Amino acid sequence: STEQPRPHVVLLASPGAGHLIPLAELARRLVEHHGFAATLVTFTDLISSPEALSGIPASVSTTALPSVPLHDLPAATPIETVLFELVRRSLPHLRTLLRSAAHLAALVPNFFCSAALPLAAELGVPAYIFIPTNLTSLAIMRRTVDLHDGVPHGEHRDLPEPLELPGGMSVRRADLPHAFRSSHEPVYAYLLEEGRRYRHADGFLMNTFYEMEPTVVEEFRQAAVGGAWPPVFPVGPFVRSGSDETGESACIEWLDRQPSGSVVYVSFGSGGSLSVKQTAELAAGMDASGHRFLWVVRMPSTDGGDEEPEEEHGGDKNNNPLAWLPEGFLERTKDKGLAVAAWAPQVRVLSHPATAAFVSHCGWNSTLESVSCGVPMIAWPLYAEQRLNAVLLEGSVGVALRARDADGDGVVVTRGEIADVVRELMEGAEKGRAVRRQAGDMQQAAARAWAPEGSSRRALEEVAVTWKARRGWRGEVTDV
Ligand code: UDP
Repeated sequence: STEQPRPHVVLLASPGAGHLIPLAELARRLVEHHGFAATLVTFTDLISSPEALSGIPASVSTTALPSVPLHDLPAATPIETVLFELVRRSLPHLRTLLRSAAHLAALVPNFFCSAALPLAAELGVPAYIFIPTNLTSLAIMRRTVDLHDGVPHGEHRDLPEPLELPGGMSVRRADLPHAFRSSHEPVYAYLLEEGRRYRHADGFLMNTFYEMEPTVVEEFRQAAVGGAWPPVFPVGPFVRSGSDETGESACIEWLDRQPSGSVVYVSFGSGGSLSVKQTAELAAGMDASGHRFLWVVRMPSTDGGDEEPEEEHGGDKNNNPLAWLPEGFLERTKDKGLAVAAWAPQVRVLSHPATAAFVSHCGWNSTLESVSCGVPMIAWPLYAEQRLNAVLLEGSVGVALRARDADGDGVVVTRGEIADVVRELMEGAEKGRAVRRQAGDMQQAAARAWAPEGSSRRALEEVAVTWKARRGWRGEVTDV
């Protein structure tokens, strides 16, 4: 027969649900829409959300790189540095894996994994970096790299304060992703090296879409024309469909019993946790708002206090996040609220008709899921690039209200602020209304991006065609 083997794309996922979930979704589309075979390569170390691994589509193969020693890194090493070291130390294993991969057509390293780019060059295949977040973040990386043009390696400069970005966006230092804030921190050197390697990539696949960041997309187009930076392809939003999250769920059963458009969903992602004090404040604020809520409670961060969990929930403070909620809270709110421990089927929750608003840590996947479901947000950023995302969402995108910190850079958002901002988003006739309306408009824009002839669909098509042409895979690829 004249059947051709499927061209094979290897995608390298950094640890973390927020990285793995959208990369798996990209892999699925390469297989199901473009006839590639795809292997998602993960690391054995630092995997914290087994739930995310179990959601990988069946059409995508997976393999884990062997564990590498990391115990020599000091306990206080920032997570970014640990990730960069993990990737660097895993390169020999990755080389072995890539050398044995048949019909390799492209390598797609996730953000943090650009150290793998030379392997693609070695094997003569294109390498496209996948950025699981927005283009504004990549603009900050590019500015950092440009700032060090002609500056000897090892010498570092701070980004200007505030940082002016395309579209009139002005970012305060405090809102930059943590690792970009100070050139004196060791993690900054890693970040700069990561960014410097980006110039050797063949392109970037971005988990964003044109209408989300139009001026930044245009600015990158200009840069690519001038050869100043590899081309950028906004191919998102990569959002799982709710049907990927199968099985019974107490959350969904509860939502089924709530009135349409009545529930505030509260969740801080796969890694976000609040202090015990902040958890109590949030509980009081949700109660005071008068609105219904579905709250995914995670174990609190230890904030030095000697708080004891409440006896009534079994007092099992080591394993049960609900045990840390204030005394009597669950009982008092049982008619209007549900608290669940650790994990909810988030896309199903956001697409449920009862869900009206999302109090979110602004992780980019959560953001895109909310946008895709037309759910307006209350931005409560915690770490990584979440403060930047919050600026974007409240500002140019206009789909979020911000929960203000009590004292500027403080940890505690007060109960009064929480109740006010929830009421504004749910009922407000001006600010709340504008954000609710914009959430509906952006939902339509997100749907258009992946509709036939949509901007993101076409962008991925363009990349897929390039990969196939380069290996001489023209025409139809037959299923095997
Ligand atoms: N997620 C989920 N249930 C939860 C918490 C998280 O399904 O209870 C999923 C969420 O839908 C999203 C991902 O995990 O796809 C979290 O990614 P995000 O970028 O929002 O935040 P991160 O966890 O990386 O901080």
